[in-house]
Amino acid sequence: MSIFDTHCHLDSPLFDPDRNTVLENCRKKGIDHILVPGIDQSGWERLLNLCEQEKELYPALGLHPLFIEQHQPQHLKQLEDHLAEHQAVAIGEIGLDFFIDNPDKERQLKYFRAQLDIAVNANLPVILHIRKAHDQVLSVLRKKPVIGGFAHAFNGSLQQAQQFIDLGFKLGFGGALTYERSHKIRHLAQVLPLDAIVLETDAPDMPVAPHRGERNSPEYIVDCLAVLAELRHDDPQYIAEQTCGNGLSMLGHLDYRHKQ
Ligand SMILES: [Zn+2]
Repeated sequence: MSIFDTHCHLDSPLFDPDRNTVLENCRKKGIDHILVPGIDQSGWERLLNLCEQEKELYPALGLHPLFIEQHQPQHLKQLEDHLAEHQAVAIGEIGLDFFIDNPDKERQLKYFRAQLDIAVNANLPVILHIRKAHDQVLSVLRKKPVIGGFAHAFNGSLQQAQQFIDLGFKLGFGGALTYERSHKIRHLAQVLPLDAIVLETDAPDMPVAPHRGERNSPEYIVDCLAVLAELRHDDPQYIAEQTCGNGLSMLGHLDYRHKQ
């Protein structure tokens, strides 16, 4: 079985004490692809070094909307420089977060648009972080012909899901699936075409129900897989292979090479 965690912050210092053990456990469970998104410029170097060393890991670089105050215009130039050296497989995570108190919407939009332009020029997919801004993100995307990507931790409506799919996106489902009260997300995971779905953990955030209150881990993607298979009345192995294929198809043209 091959499982793809399409969104995992394995570079987080929370994994410093036992990252190798976590990766070893992942290998035993067939989790052999992990996409690691960047959040700010200061973390890129560390993330790139980590991904070079482990063949399961793929780096994405980006400026996350939740860290908007740290981003500087020169970081956009540095992002382009990294991409020119084929150091990333996607741009992310980027997007709009209007859920937080007093979001600086203009500044978020500025960095989001600029990074979409960079993705278009580099012909790379993007990893989207969206909270309370699905329609705004869709309207920006319609003006920027990105090749597609992942709408991470998708929690929009079915109608919005369809619009993201039409724009070439796969929708990420993770820990929220494992909570029975997540009616909307579970319903989406049931009715969307399987070829539009990818699995993710967002570790160390968004723990799965059996590990509530703990640090989340990419190992627990098997819990998300089990729930998705149950919801869709399908075989977990089949779901794992299909969703893994969906994720890899998005990264199919990549030039990234591991050092190993
Ligand atoms: Zn994330």
